[in-house]
Amino acid sequence: MIKLKGQGVCGGIAFGKLELIKKSAALVHRERVVDTKSELMRFEEARTKAGQQLEALYDKALDEVGEDNAAIFEIHRLMLGDPDYLESIQAYIKDQHVNAESAVAMTADNFVEMFIAMNDSYMQARAVDVRDISDRVISILADVEQPGIKSEAPVIIGADDLAPSETVQLDKSRILAFVTEKGSSNSHTSILARTMNIPAVIGAKGITDSRFEGAEIIVDGFSGEVYIDPDMETIIQMQEKKQKSNTQKELLQRLKGVKPVTRDGQEIRLYANIGSIKDMAEVYANDAMGVGLFRSEFIYLESSTYPTEDEQFNIYKSAVEKALGKQVIIRTLDIGADKQVGYFDMPKEENPAMGVRAIRICLTRPGVFKTQLRALYRASAFGRIAIMFPMITSLSEVRKVKEICRQVKEELVAERIPFNANTELGIMIETPAAAIISDILAKEVDFFSIGTNDLTQYTLAVDRQNPDIEPFCDVHHPAVLRLIKTVVDNARKAGIWTGICGELAGDMELTELFLAMGVDELSVSPGLILPLKQKVLETNVSHIKDKLLSQL
Ligand code: PEP
Ligand code: MG
Repeated sequence: MIKLKGQGVCGGIAFGKLELIKKSAALVHRERVVDTKSELMRFEEARTKAGQQLEALYDKALDEVGEDNAAIFEIHRLMLGDPDYLESIQAYIKDQHVNAESAVAMTADNFVEMFIAMNDSYMQARAVDVRDISDRVISILADVEQPGIKSEAPVIIGADDLAPSETVQLDKSRILAFVTEKGSSNSHTSILARTMNIPAVIGAKGITDSRFEGAEIIVDGFSGEVYIDPDMETIIQMQEKKQKSNTQKELLQRLKGVKPVTRDGQEIRLYANIGSIKDMAEVYANDAMGVGLFRSEFIYLESSTYPTEDEQFNIYKSAVEKALGKQVIIRTLDIGADKQVGYFDMPKEENPAMGVRAIRICLTRPGVFKTQLRALYRASAFGRIAIMFPMITSLSEVRKVKEICRQVKEELVAERIPFNANTELGIMIETPAAAIISDILAKEVDFFSIGTNDLTQYTLAVDRQNPDIEPFCDVHHPAVLRLIKTVVDNARKAGIWTGICGELAGDMELTELFLAMGVDELSVSPGLILPLKQKVLETNVSHIKDKLLSQL
C-alpha cells in the first residue's frame, strides 16, 4: 500500500480504480523537414483521423443533445476539407519545408486573424471553429491525448491539475472522485468538485505516476489522504468511515423542510451555488431555498463557440422553471483569470486575475454582454430571476451596466417580447474597492452578494490559484471580516439585502459571526446546505453578538 497526503477539498470517501487524465495542450515546435512528401502524407493521415473523431462526436452529441447542438461537429468536419485551408497548409509544407504541426498552426493563425477582421459576426465566429479544428489536427500529429475518461465504468480521476474548462467537459456520472497533484482549495476546479459533491483531494504529489494507472485506490476527501492498493486494515477502516459519513448525511435529511432559524429566532436564507442546470437536482435534494449563485460562465466554458441568445434563454428558463418559484440569482459571465475560453481569443496577460475578466470583458464586448442580458430578461418572464454582476470596482461600472440593461429592456419592449421589468439587479462585492464604497453602490442596486474568494485574494494579495501561497492566506483575516461587516452595514442603511456566495459562506466557524453581522443569505455548494442549517438551528446569537462584533 502507498499513502499520499494532499488536502481534502470536498468531503466523502470513494473506492475505485484510478484513471490518469493527461493534459491536452500540444506545444507546436517549428522544425525543418526535408522529405516534404511524407510530411504531406503525415498531415493527410492526421486530417483523416480528425474527420473520424468528429464523425464519432457528431453521433454521440446527436444522441445526447440533439441535432441542433450536434451540427457543430459536422460543420467542423466539413471545414477540415476547405480548399483554401488545405492549400495553405500544403504550401507551408511544400514551399517552406516546415513540419505539419507548424503548417497547421500558422494557417490557423492567419485564418483566425482574417475572420476576426471581418465586419460580420457570423464570420468572426468562424475564427473559433478554425482554431478548434486546427488544435484537433495538431493534437493528433503530436500524439497528445484530448482529455476525457476512457473507462466505461465510474473511476477516480488523477491529474496534474485540471482547468475549469477541462473539468466541465468531463462526464460527471463517471467520476467517483478527483485527485490532483496541484490546485488550491479555492480554485474553480475545487469549487466544481464541491458543487458536484464529489470527494476531492488536491496537492497529492505523486498521483500521476504512471505505475498507479488502473490501481485500486481509496480517496478520503475529509483528511486529504489517498491510499493506493490499500491493505485490508485500511479498507475496513475506510468502509467504517464511509458508513459513518453516510449515516450523518441520512440524519441531516430530517432537516429538510425545517426553516433555518437560530434558537433565538433570527432567520437566514440558505441558498445553493450551481454551475450548471444539471445541478438543479442537487438544489432540490438538499432543500436549498433558492440559487444564490449560478456561475453562468460554465455555459460558455462547456461550449465550443459563443452560446446563442436562444441557447442561453432555454437554459435560464429551464433553471427558473425547475426552481418552482424559488429565486435564482444568475451571475453574468465571469470569464478570464483561470476560466479561459478559447473562442474569446483573449490576449495573454501577465496578471490575468487583475486583468480583463468578468464585467470588464462584458463592458468591452457589449455585443456578447447584450446577448446574455437579452436571454436573462426573456427568461425572467418564466420565474424569479435576479441578475448579478461580477468584479465590480466602481460606481461608473454599475451605471454603465444599468444603462445596458435599460437598452436591452427597451429593445424587448419594442419587439413585444415579455419579461419582468422589475427583475432584481445585484452586484458581487469581491474587490476591496467595491466593499469600501459599498455605501455609494448600495444606492444603485437591489442586493449585494459578497464573493469572499476574490475578496480574500485581492485584500490579502494572495493568488487563489497558487497552492504555495496558502500558508500566507489567513481565511479568517480581520481585514476581510471587517470589509464584510462594512458591506452588510452599508447595505442595511440603504435598505437592501446582503448575501455571501464565496466559499467562506460555508465555513461553519464563521456562521455565528455572519449571523451577528446580520447577513441575510448564505449561498453554498448544495452538499453544505443541510450541515449549515444544522449549525444555524443550534446557534444562539443575541447573547454573544456584541462580543463577536467587538473582536473584529
Ligand atoms: C467569489 O469570488 O467569492 C465568487 C463567488 O466568485 P468565483 O469563485 O466564481 O470567482
Ligand atoms: Mg469571484
